[in-house]
Amino acid sequence: MKVREDLSRLSILALRNRRQGLVKLLPPLAEVLRGSLMERYLTCGHPECKCARGERHGPVWYLTVTLGPGRTTGTTLAVDQVEKVRLWIDNYHRAKENLEKISDINRELLRRERKKPKPEHGPA
Ligand SMILES: [Zn+2]
Repeated sequence: MKVREDLSRLSILALRNRRQGLVKLLPPLAEVLRGSLMERYLTCGHPECKCARGERHGPVWYLTVTLGPGRTTGTTLAVDQVEKVRLWIDNYHRAKENLEKISDINRELLRRERKKPKPEHGPA
């Protein structure tokens, strides 16, 4: 678990500036992918093959994605897709992290709004 920063000490202006900065740090949202990249080395089953003596075939790359409790799906990847997939997964985590931080700031801004004193009546 990450320790959340104490936002209550920042001014409203500082919170808004920080929020704007976080928006700018968001990766391109079309280029995100949730999942894990896995590398596997396999044996083919032929007793005469080098893989039977420990020199396995591979790497074979997989993308695995958890869809729900106990439900995962996966697909194999072409070698030339691996770099892109790695980047997209990284983008996903960065986007999520920044969206969490923006959410925290917005909660704090809502709290300040609520606590704003009611406008006073002007002098008679
Ligand atoms: Zn083999």
